[in-house]
Amino acid sequence: MEQELCMGDERKPGRTLVNEMQIVFESKPENEAFARTAVAAFVAPLNPTMDELADIKTAVSEAVTNCVIHGYEMGPGKIFLDAALWDRDLVVAITDEGRGIADISKAREPMFTTKPELERSGMGFSFMEAFMDALEVESSPGRGTRVVMQKEIR
Ligand code: ATP
Ligand code: MG
Repeated sequence: MEQELCMGDERKPGRTLVNEMQIVFESKPENEAFARTAVAAFVAPLNPTMDELADIKTAVSEAVTNCVIHGYEMGPGKIFLDAALWDRDLVVAITDEGRGIADISKAREPMFTTKPELERSGMGFSFMEAFMDALEVESSPGRGTRVVMQKEIR
């Protein structure tokens, strides 16, 4: 996966880039908490409501969990977290260089999971979509997956 911050303002042209950050961390379950806390701290200057913060933290958690469980299948690997603030829009991208997704539209369907034996409910992408304003998924099998999410802090 390429590492450029391709999270620009094509959706809403004319926005101003207020802040951005990048973090790279190892694919470990404990880093789910680290990632969602880091994004929460990043948006804090915009004074999000508790509900907005909870939505963002859940979405980031789901995306990072997917990298750990599906992308790297609990093995080693790097997870890339990119975040940007465009005016009051948070754009966050979570990228892995793991196994990738063969059929993205199928993977995004509610209750679709390739790991039913781990008691996954297949709701991760549905939660990301419900809790954020926009969700984009890019993936190539054998190369990795990038999830880009956007949410306006009102
Ligand atoms: P849940 O999130 O409810 O625990 P789940 O992870 O299976 O279950 P989703 O998060 O919606 O459900 O993901 C659906 C499917 O998409 C996964 O079962 C997996 O096959 C695939 N997938 C998601 N993220 C990745 C990823 N980063 N790398 C590879 N495959 C992925
Ligand atoms: Mg999931």
